[in-house]
Amino acid sequence: MEGETGIIVLGEDIPAKHYADWTRLPPVRPLALARPRTVAQVSAILRACHETRTPVVPQGGLTGLVGGAHPVPGCVALSLDRMVGVDDVDPVAGTMTVLAGTPLEQVQAAAEEAGWSFPLDLGARGSCTIGGNLATNAGGNRVIRYGTARDHVLGLEVVLPDGTVVSALNRLVKNNTGYDLKQLFIGSEGTLGVITRAVLKLQPRPRGTIVALCAAPGYDNLLMLLGALRSQLGPALTAFEAMWPDFWDFMTTKLGLRPPFAAMHGAYALIEISSMDPERCSERLEACLAGLMDEAAIADALVAQTAREAADFWRIREGVGELRNLLGPITSFDIGLAAQDADAFIRTAVADIRANWPDAVHMAFGHLGDNNVHLVVHIPSAGASQPKAEIEAEVYGALAAFGGSVSAEHGIGLTKKPYLSLSRSEAEIAAMRRIKHAFDPLGIMNPGKLLDST
Ligand code: FAD
Ligand code: ZN
Repeated sequence: MEGETGIIVLGEDIPAKHYADWTRLPPVRPLALARPRTVAQVSAILRACHETRTPVVPQGGLTGLVGGAHPVPGCVALSLDRMVGVDDVDPVAGTMTVLAGTPLEQVQAAAEEAGWSFPLDLGARGSCTIGGNLATNAGGNRVIRYGTARDHVLGLEVVLPDGTVVSALNRLVKNNTGYDLKQLFIGSEGTLGVITRAVLKLQPRPRGTIVALCAAPGYDNLLMLLGALRSQLGPALTAFEAMWPDFWDFMTTKLGLRPPFAAMHGAYALIEISSMDPERCSERLEACLAGLMDEAAIADALVAQTAREAADFWRIREGVGELRNLLGPITSFDIGLAAQDADAFIRTAVADIRANWPDAVHMAFGHLGDNNVHLVVHIPSAGASQPKAEIEAEVYGALAAFGGSVSAEHGIGLTKKPYLSLSRSEAEIAAMRRIKHAFDPLGIMNPGKLLDST
């Protein structure tokens, strides 16, 4: 391939990090690891795999939480780790063209450098890639204001399973010329093709950001707080992260942090306000919080006074990245459901879990403004062999009454596949199969992920 060495790595030379993703399923060594630098090389690799009917598993930063980038036996793992960098920034239009293997944090930094902001943000920002973010339609911390990964894209370059390069690097905000192909690849979890480049939409950089922690007597008060902030601060509300007491108590004690509030409370929220007029927003926020305190809807609130303090507040929420180190193996959930139902669902699920495993450790938190809660469960007495399937049966059983989604933002991959039919109708799954077959008739692209291979 253009005479370059090291594009294909075989056997024991393949670094172990490519044997699994963050989901930590039992490791599988791929047949080969491909590390292309150019779209032409991606195309040549896919063409060769197509001819030999060799499965291909795209790998970005390997931070996925559903086994989407986990190798399948006999596959070529196609890593985007050499396709890194920014092609160009258009400072007038506010667009940026990037290679798919660029880490999210690097995309954010390049936007800042150009005087703009790329507000898609999640805890794995240092390791996850923009290609992986788009392939999973990642959500994260600022969906409440800016939407999911899908909402940040104007154009894509993708390589189809037979090696065809589809260059749809559209930069126009309005372009109604037929099917919007990029939307099919966004959220397709590497099952339709490989994303190699993206034209991203940038946002004006806010002049100031305010981060605050609020403690409330109970969950219903958090809903009041969310409603009040939405109506009084409008689009300036860029994050609203809810934390249940089980999560809060664990994070503020086990992470070696000083608990910000002296007393214990029924519910907590981290709020981020970003604005072109931070002074005015600060006044509005204080007035809003004071009003809610007068009504006893919130019990206490702290507004970060320094960037360091703001980062410390975020550390509590983002401590979730440490959970596996602190607890050992966990079963984690990414549930989509109406914010009004979230507490009732969590209570039901936790009660069912505790009825089966009285020693269960559980933690609930989530992006409440986006109808998305996470639940993490660890059974200390089960040690290394956590009863994942049984825990999942209890949690999805509890979810049935609320009509929620088994994946709000992490995707389906391998681990959520048995539950896809809980959230999608037969007709929807059949339509997905038709799309899959149209793009990948030989079934070589990330086989067995999202949909069964058959
Ligand atoms: P990978 O894990 O490498 O791959 C993910 C999927 O995309 C796989 O199916 C893979 O085959 C496919 N893929 C990767 N690159 C490409 C490509 N170029 N073309 C085609 N397919 C490709 N997710 C959220 O949505 N919100 C969160 O708040 C969030 N927080 C997280 C916090 C932590 C600490 C961790 C570890 C993960 C978190 N995640 C979150 C999950 C994960 O980070 C995201 O889904 C991320 O977008 C995955 O990017 P990646 O580059 O690591 O992809
Ligand atoms: Zn999340």
